[in-house]
Amino acid sequence: MKLIPLPAFADNYIWMLHDGQQALVVDPGDAAPVLQALDREGVQLQSILVTHHHADHTGGVDALRQATGAQVFGPARETIPEPLRRLQEGDTVQALGLAFQVLDVPGHTAGHIAYYCAGMDGTPLLFCGDTLFSAGCGRLFEGTATQMLASLNKLAALPGDTRVCCTHEYTLSNLKFALEVEPDNAALVAYYQRCQDLRAQGQVTLPSSIALEQAINPFLRSQQPTIAASARRFDAAGVDQHGVFATLRQWKNQYR
Ligand SMILES: [Zn+2]
Ligand SMILES: [Zn+2]
Repeated sequence: MKLIPLPAFADNYIWMLHDGQQALVVDPGDAAPVLQALDREGVQLQSILVTHHHADHTGGVDALRQATGAQVFGPARETIPEPLRRLQEGDTVQALGLAFQVLDVPGHTAGHIAYYCAGMDGTPLLFCGDTLFSAGCGRLFEGTATQMLASLNKLAALPGDTRVCCTHEYTLSNLKFALEVEPDNAALVAYYQRCQDLRAQGQVTLPSSIALEQAINPFLRSQQPTIAASARRFDAAGVDQHGVFATLRQWKNQYR
């Protein structure tokens, strides 16, 4: 199995997984990079998995379905280019001989779903769209902070070695904010250095892992006393009223 992040637009990744013959892609906002990769890798597109309705995740669906006949899977409660198989938590997608469990992860959008494969070449795999980013999380466009926190907790409970395939290269800017929140976190300082080196060489910082995110991602660490103290310095009244997580998300929205 080969797992490849295909760059699209300014900072999107369209994840491709293939076994040398058949491929799946996740959130193809643009058909062109997928068609080029299918050609380059010499594989056929079997399945398209969609996590949520935003155009930068769905813009290439129609063209790819037309060009390849691939089957489309997407969230039950969002508007995705038809026809598609509509999914919600408890459903399983079979693709490339692998089983992907569907998780409901509302927050960024109201019907956002994620795809979790318990074992691919011995390691779990997660396609989480715009819910969990390395060192960050998605903006709350349609859901509440409470929903997003519950969704992130659900993802954080997956095995530590789960490969986390996020759909944007936001890692460095997320890390700058994370360091503002938690300047004394040694794992975070080391990871920032590593990601700066990777980006300087034009490399992708993903996939991340659940264990790494638990060590460095402030949005998975809002129960830590140091993070609560930082959030209070930003907005103590906000923490009292809405909690640490909601205050962190608010802080990040304003952070430059
Ligand atoms: Zn989105
Ligand atoms: Zn996006």
